Amino acid sequence: MPQTYQLVESMLQQPLANGDVVCNLCLWRCRLQHGQRGFCQAHVNRNGTLYNLSYGIISAIEVGPISHKPVYHYRPDSTVMSIGSYGCNFRCKGCHNLEISWGVEALDKLARGQSSDAWVTPAQMVETALKHKVDGIAFTYSEPAVWLEYVVEVSKLAHDAGLFTVYVSNSFVTDEALEVMAPHIDVLCSDIKSLSTEFYRDICPVSTVDQVLASIKKAADLGIHVETRTNVIPTKNDDLDELHRIAEWILNNLGADSAWHVTKFFPAYKLSHLPATDNAIIDAAAEAGRALGLHNVYGHTDISCDCATENMPVSSWLELDADAINEVNQCAAPCCGDEGILVKKFEREAGLLEVRK
Ligand code: SF4
Ligand code: SF4
Repeated sequence: MPQTYQLVESMLQQPLANGDVVCNLCLWRCRLQHGQRGFCQAHVNRNGTLYNLSYGIISAIEVGPISHKPVYHYRPDSTVMSIGSYGCNFRCKGCHNLEISWGVEALDKLARGQSSDAWVTPAQMVETALKHKVDGIAFTYSEPAVWLEYVVEVSKLAHDAGLFTVYVSNSFVTDEALEVMAPHIDVLCSDIKSLSTEFYRDICPVSTVDQVLASIKKAADLGIHVETRTNVIPTKNDDLDELHRIAEWILNNLGADSAWHVTKFFPAYKLSHLPATDNAIIDAAAEAGRALGLHNVYGHTDISCDCATENMPVSSWLELDADAINEVNQCAAPCCGDEGILVKKFEREAGLLEVRK
């Protein structure tokens, strides 16, 4: 694995005869030409090989109780170091993490060879977690499937060091990705955002609710400890009948003991015009789940999505040389050239397209 910033070959890529590559990390299954990035912006096709741009790039770090993820039934009272990078396969209109989750500006800077975001090796990340005396590492803030190369490497070292691993996900991921991660991930905290494909299509035009539910079930079948979360958004998914049906799905597919967390929406971004969720709706949804036979339903009036907006700067957590952390991240591999430009549209802007395929 590299010791300085470098593109890392994407897992689960499928090269095609014409030089396109299909990415099978998430259910977008993007088909990309040379110089194109996937929907998440974090993977780029360079001359017929797909690379992860964001390997080792850290957008946020925080230490806190596992209950804040929220996870209640795996090592209760333990603490986790939460870490995230940039890029997500969804575009939720009420996301509180936009700079991180959509990550467009940060990933564009990487693609231009102009980023000075923190770059941390997996070994350094695990050392950092041990230094802060946590029990586990949680991959969160954006969708970890688009960063799986790093997630797996950190998780292997974390397990070797006696730490557990948590994966906070929207579950729009492929069976192949789940099979890759299953040996290395102990806990999945997954959203069930809605039971309506219309809701999912609004944040990801190629998604269906059945795909998301099948991924959650698959993760449980693979032996990962699964807890689910529904963030109730006024007028979007606050219909009690729908919330009841989510509880029913959990009961029938994950079992009566599976934990369901019902969380509160706080206005943000394109949903700033909506009010925060009325606590009575959260209580009613939780009550409906219990009445149905779920034993572990938790209504949260203080937790929404797993946000990183209030976190301390990444460098404050790392005992690494400050200059080294903030060096400009240009891929060391020769194909990227001195300019470090990785994406076709930026090559075109810089007049470099003729000299590269
Ligand atoms: S991770 Fe998903 S969105 Fe990103 S390139 Fe792969 S298939 Fe596309
Ligand atoms: S809320 Fe979660 S799934 Fe949606 S865009 Fe933000 S990070 Fe991605």
